[in-house]
Amino acid sequence: MTGSKGDFTVTVRKKARYVNENLCTGCGACAEKCPTIVSDDYDMGLGKRKAIYRHYAQGIPSIFCIDTDHCRTFQGKKCGVCEKVCQAKAIDYKQQDQILELKVGAIILATGYDLFDATRIPEYGYGRLPNVINAMEFERLLSASGPTEGHVERPSDLRDHHLIGTMGKGLKKSTKSLASYEKKHKMSSDDFYKQFTAGNISDGDEFPKWAKQYENVQEATKKLDELKAKAEKFDIATRLAFIQCVGSRDFRFNKYCSSYCCMHSIKEAMMAKDHDARTEAYIFNMDLRTVGKGFEEYKVRGAEDVGLHYIRGRVAEITQDENENPVIWYEETTSQTVKSMPVDLAVLAVACEAPKGIEKMAELVGAELDENRFFKTHPLQPLDTTVPGIFVCGCAQAPMDIPESVAQASSAASRAAETIAGK
Ligand code: SF4
Ligand code: SF4
Repeated sequence: MTGSKGDFTVTVRKKARYVNENLCTGCGACAEKCPTIVSDDYDMGLGKRKAIYRHYAQGIPSIFCIDTDHCRTFQGKKCGVCEKVCQAKAIDYKQQDQILELKVGAIILATGYDLFDATRIPEYGYGRLPNVINAMEFERLLSASGPTEGHVERPSDLRDHHLIGTMGKGLKKSTKSLASYEKKHKMSSDDFYKQFTAGNISDGDEFPKWAKQYENVQEATKKLDELKAKAEKFDIATRLAFIQCVGSRDFRFNKYCSSYCCMHSIKEAMMAKDHDARTEAYIFNMDLRTVGKGFEEYKVRGAEDVGLHYIRGRVAEITQDENENPVIWYEETTSQTVKSMPVDLAVLAVACEAPKGIEKMAELVGAELDENRFFKTHPLQPLDTTVPGIFVCGCAQAPMDIPESVAQASSAASRAAETIAGK
């Protein structure tokens, strides 16, 4: 970037999507037939997507792109299925990144944010205990367009269901090969195994192989039955613990309040209760910061009308029981007693942090950052960075919720328009 207020020149890399955006109609035929299935980062790794995809269903413009790290064609394997099925002829494997030079009068920095990495607090077990998740993962589980279509399933159950599917397929294959032995020797595998182990029959190489295969099938069937019995014990998670201030208001990590997490946890708990009336939600907090029009009333309604439980106390540790259910250890400060509570799912309200790469962006535009790595602004001019003509909005300036980000975005657009108009 060069220039100054009213006359900037910005060089931008427009990444290739390998789909011609003037031709793609967003029909999705390519993704339907694409054979490559990968973990979906929009669903926080809890769901799957194809190698040709849209970041999320409501994204605008509704145009697909190819994930070159996983696409078979880009990985030197044989495929080209999307090109064959695309009736609009939109697939373009040869598309290149474009370098654009833009002449602009003002710039708005809208960087977004990163979530605090909860593995930095090992005593909470995130990344180690399967049913300890972060608030964004819970949001995807609760979403009707998410990986579980809004059913709050424990990640350990999702893992087990996946395992049951894979083991079931493997078992079907092994059982088929037993059937071919049975057909050839006109004998059931059970009878064969009894006679073989009793030493009544022998036949060079083939019978030991059949016996081994039979043993493998028996063992796999036993494991599969155990897993199915375990999976049947659980339906959906109805005992939920929300742990506030994970990485926020904690001098080891971020001393600031992330501002939206209290309301987010109350909203998610209310929605979970709305999905399933059996839900019991416990929100562990130092205090609930419900600052905003109608927010305090919403919190009170959560307790009085919906039955949410607000527990004042900072959680010390999360362990798990024999069913992989998280156990919350905490001091209830109102009664000054140390307690533990088993739940189905623990949801960590992780801090909102300035994104990785913000230092590089600041260096590029010459703007200063504040002590928390967000862009520095003046209290009376919260959209203006330290460089005239460069503005910020949303979490580029500080943690904030969606309505505040939207309001800031439109204010930043007005400030940019004023700059261009020379005011
Ligand atoms: S690339 Fe082709 S097949 Fe895929 S969504 Fe676009 S138009 Fe449909
Ligand atoms: S070429 Fe790549 S994106 Fe297209 S169908 Fe094959 S794997 Fe999927």
